[in-house]
Amino acid sequence: MALLEIENLSVNYGAIQAVRGLSLEVGEGEVVTLIGANGAGKTTTLRAVSRMLRPVSGTIRFAGRDITRLPPDEAVKLGVAQSPEGRQVLARQSVEDNLELGAYVRGDRAGVQADLRQMYERFPRLGERRAQLAGTLSGGEQQMLAIARALMSRPRLLLLDEPSLGLAPLIVREIFTIIRELNEQGMTILLVEQNAKLAMNASHRTYVLEAGQLTFSGISSELVDDERVLHAYLGG
Ligand code: ATP
Repeated sequence: MALLEIENLSVNYGAIQAVRGLSLEVGEGEVVTLIGANGAGKTTTLRAVSRMLRPVSGTIRFAGRDITRLPPDEAVKLGVAQSPEGRQVLARQSVEDNLELGAYVRGDRAGVQADLRQMYERFPRLGERRAQLAGTLSGGEQQMLAIARALMSRPRLLLLDEPSLGLAPLIVREIFTIIRELNEQGMTILLVEQNAKLAMNASHRTYVLEAGQLTFSGISSELVDDERVLHAYLGG
């Protein structure tokens, strides 16, 4: 049984069918990437999994449990955490407040404090800036904060939406090193990326979305040079 199983998922915004009949799986310990052109439905898929959007049809199962209609905070409690597109850190709150917010569903104060210390070890720049307002962090630091905030809920599945967006190449490399390390330590990750090559290099398997529908999927290393991937970006 896969950790995440999406079956025949459709999500609409009014008359717009953003995701149509999508099925995919993410196994425990895998990094799976979802790629496709602008507007292909990648973010919509992640937001359906984190329960921020209500699907019109289909099933989302997490660890064998149907979570299709679960409220978002219940999904977090079960172990689904998202680092959203555009980071969405609370600009007028400190780094530490943002991290504590990520742990809002947890009741174990001591565990949360221990995890804070762990985050500061993993992301030393956040440690140095723990009292700084999140809105004054650089883009790369904000991305690290968004990932660390998601980790503070102790997820079993991490949803990462466009972690490289708008960042300088050096910082992007740093972020992807973190992604690889997290996975080596056992984290299961569903990654959405515009940068297809980067995402495929960092993942085990890839799904390609076009206009809300799955066009093909496969082992990432086998798809890196596949012309169909390029095709998906040129929009057919
Ligand atoms: P990008 O890479 O540009 O973020 P994406 O693959 O993540 O694209 P989505 O953001 O999931 O794509 O959008 C899928 C489709 O749904 C697009 O046609 C988009 O215009 C539409 N859409 C997204 N959000 C909304 C919304 N809040 N209201 C109406 N339509 C929306």
